[in-house]
Amino acid sequence: ATPAEEKDLVIIGGGVGGYVAAIKAGQAGLKVACIEKRGALGGTCLNVGCIPSKSLLNNSHMYHQILHDTKNRGIDVGNVALNLPKMMEAKNTAVSGLTKGIEFLFKKNGVEYIQGEGKFEDQHTIGVKLASGEQTSVRAKNIFIATGSEPTPFPGLEIDEKKVVTSDGAIAFNEVPKKMIVIGGGIIGLEMGSVWSRLGAEVTVVEFLSSIGGPGMDLDLAKSSQKFLTKQGMKFMMNTKVTNGDASGEGVKLEVEAAKGGKAQTLEADVVLVAIGRRPYTKGLGFENIGLETDNRGRLVIDSEYRTKIPHIRVIGDCTFGPMLAHKAEEEAVAAVEYLTKSYGHVNYNAIPAVMYTYPEVAWVGSNEQELKEQGVKFRAGSFPFAANSRAKTNLDTEGFVKFLADAETDRILGVHIVGPNAGEMIAEATLALEYGASTEDVGRTSHAHPTLSEAFKEAAMATYSKAIHY
Ligand code: FAD
Ligand code: NAD
Repeated sequence: ATPAEEKDLVIIGGGVGGYVAAIKAGQAGLKVACIEKRGALGGTCLNVGCIPSKSLLNNSHMYHQILHDTKNRGIDVGNVALNLPKMMEAKNTAVSGLTKGIEFLFKKNGVEYIQGEGKFEDQHTIGVKLASGEQTSVRAKNIFIATGSEPTPFPGLEIDEKKVVTSDGAIAFNEVPKKMIVIGGGIIGLEMGSVWSRLGAEVTVVEFLSSIGGPGMDLDLAKSSQKFLTKQGMKFMMNTKVTNGDASGEGVKLEVEAAKGGKAQTLEADVVLVAIGRRPYTKGLGFENIGLETDNRGRLVIDSEYRTKIPHIRVIGDCTFGPMLAHKAEEEAVAAVEYLTKSYGHVNYNAIPAVMYTYPEVAWVGSNEQELKEQGVKFRAGSFPFAANSRAKTNLDTEGFVKFLADAETDRILGVHIVGPNAGEMIAEATLALEYGASTEDVGRTSHAHPTLSEAFKEAAMATYSKAIHY
């Protein structure tokens, strides 16, 4: 880009928020550029988040299943061995295929891809330190900030991404650790803990709270998934805080004690995964040059149309409010471009699904039981176990259940909570039902193919307004 050119829209950050906004803006006929500094498009999600973690989750599950779950299916296998470099290669192939795919979509939709680091020079000019080392600048009528998030550090424990790692290191170990401690039993801790536990590591999760799963997970799901993960070999130290860490020796030593105080205990491990949450990333953007500020949690403050107090500068994705999820960033990207080009847009924050890709999967959408009780909402709950579902039984895959929460008076669905096989796919039906304002009776009166897992979904709905058939 030459300084003389003025774009309709420049986006800082080529993650899910940024790249989706760029594509949608290109489709709307805007002159658009996207600045990304990491050398590849797709952001955290494609490069070091959703995609590599799901590749490892899928393949480590297959390995674990072949080792432990084939005999009773009539399959005898011998000489099962882990080839970790190959498993990592499969992960890298998935990542590079997808990130290259976005470059192709940029070309197809007329988006200019600027490889470099962007920084505000004034309210309409972004200076870019190009990957080549040169400096340039680009002028824009409108600017989106989509710079994402970074791991929250643990005070006193320096990250080296070898012994003390964030998820960045935990998706790239070159050998299976013997002993791994995970600080934080949220989604990252449980997904990455699952991967290495399945591949043979002894994994202990230290969680400050009394339940796993991080914010938003219904307590029934948290309890159930903790039970399944324990059965698979993961250990949990609940209501426990890490007070000190020392990685100066061969492994890592951690001092822990009960969350409410008590006798300290020392834990030792080869590697420690710090997974206590992520925080917005807005470093080095030059806000001092334009008068923008973040709130006390580092989030950029926006209005309902994603505008900052400088109206032509909008913010989407992990660096502002809301759940830090790729599909949330995507919805915001589409809506922000619509606000810009058509003056209207829409994201239903009550219908953003969450999925934890452990085995079995855990998925939910809408309100959970604890939230409804806190708000004093009168609701009915209905559930159905996969153990009573014909397909789950046929597949020898019967762990978990589906639970509906519906308004006690109107029967309108308020939340759906699932632990079980393919919960992450099944939650799409719940999200659609919620988005369309369906009642549990609407779902219960909809034919679901037999024999499918989705019949458990229908029967849980039936159990909410009436009774299930098979349970
Ligand atoms: P990001 O994807 O973080 O993208 C921001 C981009 O901006 C980055 O590439 C960064 O290099 C770039 N950038 C920052 N500053 C500048 C600058 N000054 N100039 C140029 N470029 C800049 N979410 C899910 O929904 N499902 C999952 O399964 C899932 N799994 C995850 C697993 C892990 C291990 C992690 C860490 C996260 C996972 N997430 C998942 C969360 C998901 O990755 C994020 O919610 C999503 O990436 C947010 O998108 P974003 O566009 O806001 O930010
Ligand atoms: P999280 O907020 O989900 O969980 C952090 C956990 O750490 C919480 O349970 C918290 O109580 C605990 N914790 C905090 N401080 C602690 C301490 N000092 N000692 C012990 N425990 C402590 O955060 P995360 O797991 O790091 O994930 C970060 C973000 O990435 C989340 O917003 C998540 O939604 C997103 N993500 C999503 C997916 C997915 O959608 N499948 C996968 C990975 C990450």
